[in-house]
Amino acid sequence: MPVSLDGPLRDRLLRWVERPPLRVRVPEELRRHFEDRTRSDIQRVVPIGGLCGILLALLIVAARFTFYRGVGTPADEALYAQTTAFNFAVIVVTVVALQIPRAFRHYRALMVSGGAAVLASTHAASLLIQEPRIATSATYACMLGATVVTIGFRNGVVYSALTCALGLGCGSLYAAWMGATPDWVFASYGFVGASCVGIVISWLVERQDTLHFFQSVLLANEANERQKLNEQLAAMSRTDSLSGLANRRSFDDTLEVEWARMRRERKPLSLLFVDVDHFKRFNDTHGHRDGDACLRAVGQAIAEAALRPADMAARYGGEEFVLLLPDTTLAGATEVAQRVLALVDALAIPHGDSPTAPHVTISVGATTADPASELEQRHLVETADACLYRAKHQGRHCVVSSLLRGDSIRPLPRSRVAAEPR
Ligand code: GH3
Ligand code: MG
Ligand code: MG
Repeated sequence: MPVSLDGPLRDRLLRWVERPPLRVRVPEELRRHFEDRTRSDIQRVVPIGGLCGILLALLIVAARFTFYRGVGTPADEALYAQTTAFNFAVIVVTVVALQIPRAFRHYRALMVSGGAAVLASTHAASLLIQEPRIATSATYACMLGATVVTIGFRNGVVYSALTCALGLGCGSLYAAWMGATPDWVFASYGFVGASCVGIVISWLVERQDTLHFFQSVLLANEANERQKLNEQLAAMSRTDSLSGLANRRSFDDTLEVEWARMRRERKPLSLLFVDVDHFKRFNDTHGHRDGDACLRAVGQAIAEAALRPADMAARYGGEEFVLLLPDTTLAGATEVAQRVLALVDALAIPHGDSPTAPHVTISVGATTADPASELEQRHLVETADACLYRAKHQGRHCVVSSLLRGDSIRPLPRSRVAAEPR
């Protein structure tokens, strides 16, 4: 089922579903899908439909022999027997052929030829048999056959009409060739009438089938659009629009997940708090536009420093970023912090009013905790923030790291967090 429709095609389908035209044509782009659907529908009903066809034919023959046994001349009886045998053979061959995948590829041709052959032989029999009761029963069989071919086959109006026309034409020609001289109009109107009614119904059914197909295509398309939109919204709600990094909300969620994962795996979890130095002055000197560009570049540098798949860089807020490093010791976290510092230095973004350096610099607070201890995840955030505070006090443009131990879980005032300057 196609799930992606372009705008004009979608509008066309919607228009047709709302106000169906007399003849609904499947657009070229959808024809293959429609054919696939029709084919699988037919494939599904062929075994049971074929069985019903055979039973119906048996019933007609049984009724004829129950009520009118031996009423015809020997020639009539012989013709009836030949026609019956021929029809059974055609029905069985067609049904069996439709079960073979290679032959099923030509299912339309098989159904048209099989249907037309049965109709033609029955119609010819109705024209050639002299005994009126048997001839009439053949005409009824013809009418029933026309109904099955047009409505039961669900082969579309064109193929239905073709099957009936072939049956009528071939049957009449054969009868004429065999010397039949009936009242052609009287002898054919039952069959022709049933064919006409069947063709009209098959046109309605085909039209309805096509409209149902359009509706299911539109529904699938709508569901697909909605899903895409939901995915976009979910991604947007977790992304910081300025830096393109994960946002605070996404970081909070990931911290919770990673904390639980590291607790279960008994591994350390590290966190870096990164803050741009003298950023207010940067904005005041270079303007907010350059300020935004600077934050984007710093965010990119932080993301670049996170090498492992589980590492996560996020914008915490304003000019503050965080880097979550699962399964990383304090030594490893300090190394990453130094890498971030060096990458931001390498950007060499000129800062016209920084007492620290002529370019934009950052300060980093790094902390590692063992989530399997009695610590809580908020202690990790608080301590990383406190380390950052220390880095600022130590002159900025540096990293301060601290290992968070279980015995330091009481919230410490920022200035009292044990810090080891680099
Ligand atoms: P410190 O070195 O102590 O960190 O000083 P600072 O000036 O960087 O820190 P402060 O907290 O005083 O100022 C942060 C500034 O960051 C204030 C605000 O104008 C700026 N800022 C926060 N978010 C954005 C943003 O999205 N874009 C821009 N251009 N500036 C921002
Ligand atoms: Mg700052
Ligand atoms: Mg700040």
